[in-house]
Amino acid sequence: MKLARFRVGHGQVRLGRVEIADPQTLNGVVVDLSAVPGLDASMKRVIADFAELRDVIAATDGERFPLAEVTLEAPIDDPQKYLAIGMNYKEHADEARAAGIPTPTNQLWFNKQVSCINAPYGDIEKPAVSDALDYEIELAVVIGARCRNVSREDAYSVIAGYMVANDVSVRDWLQKRSPTFTLGKSFDTHGPIGPWLTTADEVADPQDLRMTLAVNGEVRQDWRTDDMIYDITAQIAELTTVMTLEPGDIIATGTPAGIGAPTGNFLKVGDVVRGEIEGLGVIENRVVAAPDA
Ligand code: MN
Repeated sequence: MKLARFRVGHGQVRLGRVEIADPQTLNGVVVDLSAVPGLDASMKRVIADFAELRDVIAATDGERFPLAEVTLEAPIDDPQKYLAIGMNYKEHADEARAAGIPTPTNQLWFNKQVSCINAPYGDIEKPAVSDALDYEIELAVVIGARCRNVSREDAYSVIAGYMVANDVSVRDWLQKRSPTFTLGKSFDTHGPIGPWLTTADEVADPQDLRMTLAVNGEVRQDWRTDDMIYDITAQIAELTTVMTLEPGDIIATGTPAGIGAPTGNFLKVGDVVRGEIEGLGVIENRVVAAPDA
């Protein structure tokens, strides 16, 4: 199932079930789930109760809207956590090392503040304080159950589904300003996700998906998720050694090679960044000047 949060005109955000004819495009419809008793527009709560809600969500026949005529919102706008792993593809670790970032010998985790979350077609703001705005296509894992100390063997049982994410990064606000990544990864609008939540049962093998990112139609990243250094199960095991994960928590699993930093080919106002992962859909974001620029 594909679950979206969407708006018709300037109306309230609604929850919908997406039915698409062509996975490459927005050629499809979203079915309004307002008729489902007790359902609100918080995907986090839907995920928490999904075992009970699943059948009625699948069977509900509400008002149908062409996808092209609605505004898609972030599938999850209120997670408790948005965690991301750095340098998790070998070729990307090599390009990062060439740019002066040492390759870690263990899983390297950082937070994107949840306030950076953006809609799948929302504008990315280029801050006035930097000209080093960069993109990172990533497979995002969404947690489906409250969990702690999850073994690698059990890791898939705590996953609700998957999304496309762009881990937008302000390179000169990363390591150069502070040993943590928090600021450079957390500018407002720098967390586009979506275009919807694809539930785990629809993804046969999340470790074998093609992921591509193009800027103004030029492909910059084109890789497969089978090339992660630490796979999804290792990531969930590591995180839950430390902390309790909650339904709706988002994990960005790393970006492959092809970011702008090594060549200085950073994003500019007016650029259009399109990220796609096989079977999960497309997110596309235009770069605009931040309002204070
Ligand atoms: Mn990243």
